[in-house]
Amino acid sequence: MTIDKSVINRISLEFSALARNKNCDGTQILSLGLGEPSFSTPKKIIDAAYKSMLKGENKYASPWGTPELLNKIRKSIENNHISIGPQELIITVGSKQALSLCLTSILEENDEIIIISPSYVSYKPQIKMAEKSTKIKEVSLDKLTLRVNFKELQKTINSKTKAILINSPHNPTGAILSKTDVEKIVKLAELNNFYIISDEIYSTMVFKKNSFISLLKYRRHYEKIFVINGFSKCYSMTGWRIGYLIGPSKHIKRVSILQQHLNTNIPVFIQRGAEAALDLPMTFIDKYKAHLISNSKYLNKAISSNRFLSYKVTEGGMFAMVNISKLYENSDLFCTKLLKATNVAVTPGIVFSKHWDDHIRVSLAGDKLEFKEAIKRLLNFINTKYNKR
Ligand code: PMP
Repeated sequence: MTIDKSVINRISLEFSALARNKNCDGTQILSLGLGEPSFSTPKKIIDAAYKSMLKGENKYASPWGTPELLNKIRKSIENNHISIGPQELIITVGSKQALSLCLTSILEENDEIIIISPSYVSYKPQIKMAEKSTKIKEVSLDKLTLRVNFKELQKTINSKTKAILINSPHNPTGAILSKTDVEKIVKLAELNNFYIISDEIYSTMVFKKNSFISLLKYRRHYEKIFVINGFSKCYSMTGWRIGYLIGPSKHIKRVSILQQHLNTNIPVFIQRGAEAALDLPMTFIDKYKAHLISNSKYLNKAISSNRFLSYKVTEGGMFAMVNISKLYENSDLFCTKLLKATNVAVTPGIVFSKHWDDHIRVSLAGDKLEFKEAIKRLLNFINTKYNKR
């Protein structure tokens, strides 16, 4: 298979080149770029992995995952009265690989897939890597409300539609799909017989109680549903590379064979770390969520008095999408100037969709004091550079 050009040829941004240079020359950058918690992986998780290595759990193992981790994930989901069958769950190398294997297991030549834009940067390359001929159809969120436009969505569906890929809480906007929206998507999928792939990596980071609806709830009603999740975000395990995929057993069995040939297994000691993560008390997650909410509130307050910026308050996840359209500057140029002048890095909206070049993405993940300082510098920069216009 030749690799689709769109996978290799990334859009070339002035901002990325400048960020690379600044990183190389050791400049202290205040980064609101990455979705990575500022705290270290909890010691209990590290201890569990270390003990496992000392115990000699360093050998080949099952491509499905350890029975202990599979059971713990199943149980954590069953606490919400949702059952997961024995061959409906597999452990993967991060949620990224869960998505990649899921796409490989369903996509055939000339299929179409719908994604919601703006979207996580790896979606399009992953789709093209799984099946080069796949046509990607984008449905844009409404820029004011951050809601899905169902009229647009309906127009993109046809007999070739194989799947819709959704992500809630959403990267990059922080929006959450409402129950009504989720049910509309399930109905459309049922009527038109396509798969729903639901990326729920931010499902523990929901700011308002009960506002998030997992697609897991609809699996018994409609079987063509996949759910992706992982340990990277809420346990600060981004470098451990562990996630999981839930879906129809027919496909998950196929995925286990792909996994066998790709990785054989996820290292057992990494899985022991993930088991320990699931044993942490809920208060651990609540504490980090409170941190994200606090940064989001600070951002909201700071922006509400700025005449150039607007922002639809984040409902969950790690990010906020800030509208910079009143600056009349494209997102790459704005982020480059900001980084040059203030050493603050935010992500240009254009990397998530060409239609979102009038936005920037701000990560809420970082340390509180650094976050405040970065937002202060951002606002100062705008007030001094753009107020004269
Ligand atoms: N999906 C989304 C929406 C993400 O934002 C990310 C990470 N930024 C991933 C998947 C990949 O996460 P993981 O580290 O579990 O592979």
